[in-house]
Parts: sequence; structure tokens; C-alpha cells
Amino acid sequence: MIYLKSAAQIAAMRKAGALLYDVLIKVRHAVKPGMSTGELDGIAEKLIRDKGAIPSFLGYRGFPATLCTSLNEQVVHGIPSDTVVLREGDILSVDCGLILNGWQSDSAFTVGVGNISPEKQALIDVTEECFFLGARRAVNGGRLQDISHAVQTHAESHGYGIVRELVGHGIGRDMHEEPSVPNFGRAGQGVRLREGMTIAVEPMIAMRDPAVTELSDGWTVVTIDKSPCAHYEHTLCINDRGLPELLSYPGYVFTEEERK
Ligand code: MG
Ligand code: MG
Repeated sequence: MIYLKSAAQIAAMRKAGALLYDVLIKVRHAVKPGMSTGELDGIAEKLIRDKGAIPSFLGYRGFPATLCTSLNEQVVHGIPSDTVVLREGDILSVDCGLILNGWQSDSAFTVGVGNISPEKQALIDVTEECFFLGARRAVNGGRLQDISHAVQTHAESHGYGIVRELVGHGIGRDMHEEPSVPNFGRAGQGVRLREGMTIAVEPMIAMRDPAVTELSDGWTVVTIDKSPCAHYEHTLCINDRGLPELLSYPGYVFTEEERK
């Protein structure tokens, strides 16, 4: 069942999202060659706990860290480690969730480490564009797969592949609520979108073949052909004007370009 949130509940989720935004800005600024993903994880956990919040990934089904840190061909769920050191030219996806006063927020970004190839930068940029084009479709009265279709269309127009095994999701008191939010689909299909819905939209895009497998650590998802991947995610609500509001990106306003 889909839990619609009241204005007060959305206000609480806005606070969780604002904290997560601050955490991820600081983690992003810490990314540089020579830094380990374990160090990034320590930074994030401290920032979250210092504000009285709880890292939601830590202990989730046994996951051992605050962040998921996924390098290059790793799509998602990479485990931070002091022995995984960032190198110039890598691309790193960082995913983080937290709970503040009982409310969840979930957000991810991909960033280049030092100088990266134009091809990798284009993948990162298009993945972000996919997110914004999809999120823009999260309007009262629309259909869920309007979001999915917008993501898929943009990614495939660049020759990229949609990772289909992993999807976005409803979010609220639980990190994963209904509905699932796939990154592929048909416009006009899926559940009716309503004011008060809160979802995480999260395109996961491969440069080439999007077929994936899981590493023997039981977590890390990688592309089989080693295609680099990018991931971008925000928690959003459909607000009392029936429009999308990015809870984990405070103050973001959709541009005219994204409305097309
Ligand atoms: Mg996430
Ligand atoms: Mg998520």
C-alpha cells in the first residue's frame, strides 16, 4: 500500500532531506585521489550522528556501512573500505540514507575523481539529466511510469543502457515503501500519482550493456561487461500544489528546460 503523507509528515521529511543534502555535499567535497572509501564513510557517519540522526544503511539486512560507495563498473551497493583508494580518472557513486526523528531520506550522486574522460563525464551528466526529467513528471494526476519513461527515453537517446534489476521506491517511515519506481516504462501506465506521495527516483545508467551481476561479497552490483555506471537519486514529494519538490535538494526549482 502507498502511504500518503500529511503536510506535517512532509515537513519532517524535509528536515531529514536537508540534513542528508548537507552530508552529501561534504562527502562530495572530500572526494579526491588518494582518499579511501572507508574515510568517506567515516565522514558521513560522524556528520549524521552529530545531528542526532541515524545512518539507515548501516545494519540494513546486514550492510556494514553508512555509505554505499561504488566505483566505475560497480553500479550500487559497493562496501566502503580503508583499502579501496580513489584514483585519478575513477568515477565514484555515493549513496546514503538517514533517519531523522523517524523519517527517512535517501540520495545518491556520481562524481569524477580528479580529471576523468569526457565519456565518463557525459555519462554522469546524462544520468543527472535523466533524474531531473523523470522527477519533473512526478505531478498530481500523472502516472508513475511517466517518470520511468522520461528517464529511459533520455538515457537511451544517448546510447546508454538502463539497469533494470534495481529501481526507485516509495519512502517514508521505511526506506523502501510502495510503489517501485522503475527507470523504464510506458508513459500513461502505472499507479496514479497523488499529492502526499513521497518517492526516491534513482536512475542507474550503464555506458554500454546494462546487464549486471553481484560480486561474492554479497552486495556489490557490477556490470558484466565492465561498463562504467552512474547513479543519481533524490527523495521527493508531490507537494500541496501537486508539483514535485526535491526533499533531499532543498531549494531546487525545476527549470523551464526540464518541463519540456
Ligand atoms: Mg539510495
Ligand atoms: Mg533509494
